[in-house]
Amino acid sequence: MGRPLIAGNWKMNGRVADGRLLAEEIAQRMHRARETDEPQLPECDLLVCPPFTLLETVHRALAGSGVALGAQDCHPAASGAHTGDISAAMLADLGCSHVIVGHSERRHDHGEGDALVRAKAEAALAEGLVPVVCVGETAAERDAGRALAVVTGQLAGSLPESFEPERLVLAYEPVWAIGTGKTATPADAAEVHQAIRGALAARFGAGAAAAVRILYGGSVKPENAAELLRAPEVDGALVGGASLKSDDFWRIAQAA
Ligand code: PGA
Repeated sequence: MGRPLIAGNWKMNGRVADGRLLAEEIAQRMHRARETDEPQLPECDLLVCPPFTLLETVHRALAGSGVALGAQDCHPAASGAHTGDISAAMLADLGCSHVIVGHSERRHDHGEGDALVRAKAEAALAEGLVPVVCVGETAAERDAGRALAVVTGQLAGSLPESFEPERLVLAYEPVWAIGTGKTATPADAAEVHQAIRGALAARFGAGAAAAVRILYGGSVKPENAAELLRAPEVDGALVGGASLKSDDFWRIAQAA
């Protein structure tokens, strides 16, 4: 496995002062770790994805820390008459290197389907951003024994045509585990990650499939991070609630 990625998805949380404080706390830990080796520098890449309104503030607070900045969504078009939307070019302009696309909350709250997710991923790539493409089944789909079929189906429809493993990140987030306190067992996560890897190998070749990072997301916390991150085929975590506390986010990073 390559270097893990721990990504924080702040969702629709935080006013400017909160975002600045949280980002400063993370940056300070990174600076201290570099200077003193205590706490230790995490052996993973770190990414935070605040809401659009905090991107500029967080970008400033993270400067020089080595923590990457991402957004939570983008529009597939580069610019134009799309009231209320934000393009990948605007995100790159603000210092983002990553953007989450196809999060289940967008798929469900905004009716986003695979074709739109794929268009967003392509728009991100066109602007030099790394799309973090999310897939995951609902509780009903899992109960019906369809978890793997749903996830590989979403994957097939959501991935851009040209697949370069170092320019894209995948996230498996079972919908029933997001914000619920229920986590997939390491074995469940490994099974789905393996299926994703297999589908990628069939489409893009074994080398590309092995090289792409597949994150697990859904109620990742300091208490369960180590065992989830040790599961086969799990290359990092997409962390929601626990990424809003710098201490928890840092402990998860230390577990990687
Ligand atoms: P959670 O969210 O960690 O709060 O479950 C994860 C996500 O939706 O990315």
